[in-house]
Amino acid sequence: MADKYDVVVIGAGPAGMTAALYASRANLKLAMLDRGIYGGQMNNTAEIENYPGFKSILGPDLSEEMYQSSTQFGAEYVYGTVESVTVDSDGIKHIQTDQGELTAPAVIIATGSESRKLGVIGEEEFSGKGVSYCAVCDGAFYKDRDVAVIGGGDSAIEEGMYLANLAKSVTVIHRRDQLRAQKILQSRAFANKNMHFVWDTVATEILGTDRKITGLKLHNKKTGEDSQMDIDGVFIYVGANPMTESFTDLGITNEAGWIPTNDRMETNIPGIYAIGDVRDKTLRQITTAVGDAGIAGQEVFSYISSLNDKELVK
Ligand code: NAP
Repeated sequence: MADKYDVVVIGAGPAGMTAALYASRANLKLAMLDRGIYGGQMNNTAEIENYPGFKSILGPDLSEEMYQSSTQFGAEYVYGTVESVTVDSDGIKHIQTDQGELTAPAVIIATGSESRKLGVIGEEEFSGKGVSYCAVCDGAFYKDRDVAVIGGGDSAIEEGMYLANLAKSVTVIHRRDQLRAQKILQSRAFANKNMHFVWDTVATEILGTDRKITGLKLHNKKTGEDSQMDIDGVFIYVGANPMTESFTDLGITNEAGWIPTNDRMETNIPGIYAIGDVRDKTLRQITTAVGDAGIAGQEVFSYISSLNDKELVK
């Protein structure tokens, strides 16, 4: 027997938790489904200082605050990995998970994105043995050691600065001669004596022994020069891919896998909404995720109310 809800929110990051808050506060019966602990990428973020209400807060602490807030009106946190979502002839959505089936007339997709791989030799082999995608998780292993950060976006620079507090040195390797990160982060990083920058350069191979990495092979795109760098750890921050594998059969994703919506967060299937980082948009932040979620939470209430009105008319 499937568990029946008014709304199933898939993903318990900031977007999912905020949608759960809005929709459950509107008295909808709601399950917030996640395959892991609530919080999403916030759990891998050291310090957050662009979420209003907190001058600065640790990512895991903000996750906890949001979780307490999102479940106060009866939203149920349900553990499970989504395998597929189908829509029956009555418009009911069937969410198949590895733990069983959930059904609801409305689904809010808030599955976010995951770290993109660099795709070089050694990356997979040394993953967890010197190659990491999470400074907060693994940074402590590199106390007083030399690490490299690959990428030039907000994540690379923010997490690079976190590492600079622990490691002996942090070398940011970026494929262009200008960072993509916000200017405020750039100026802090340039002022940090522990941070160094290698421009116009890509890593072509991660070198190591059987147990740990020892260095990187580098290629300068401007000069064509190849070089080698000794390093104890490498943190890769080259962007993100959407987590939409379970939704591709619904036909709601674009070529790159993101989910386009209108400004009501509606996808092209009535009753299916997408919010947060998984949505096709330009600015992926906690603030924009919670903004999307507030809209979807209200829209889903109107959608369920309209279905109930139809039932009454019948
Ligand atoms: P991002 O903004 O997409 O930046 C990815 C970086 O990796 C870029 O500098 C890019 O270089 C580089 N890159 C991509 N592919 C590469 C490759 N194959 N080899 C070498 N370098 C490569 O990703 P992100 O930093 O993970 O951020 C994701 C989103 O989260 C963004 O919207 C960001 O603003 C947001 N975010 C915000 C905060 C905050 O507000 N505090 C913190 C973290 C993340 P190019 O610049 O040359 O393209």
